[in-house]
Amino acid sequence: MANKSPPMVTCPHCGKEHQWDTNNRFRPFCSERCKLIDLGKWANEEYRVEQREQESSEETSIPDSFRS
Ligand SMILES: [Zn+2]
Repeated sequence: MANKSPPMVTCPHCGKEHQWDTNNRFRPFCSERCKLIDLGKWANEEYRVEQREQESSEETSIPDSFRS
């Protein structure tokens, strides 16, 4: 009888060690929560870049001819 235990992996989000389980849909994360949080982090950073682009496009310059 082979007593093979799955390897331990570290969750990229919380750093908790857990057993590698091929049935775990959230691997390499330890749980669905960690996966969602980590994905959310990425989404937020992308959103910040988009916001920055919008800000710069909103920049309005008053033409010199309007002043005189
Ligand atoms: Zn985790």
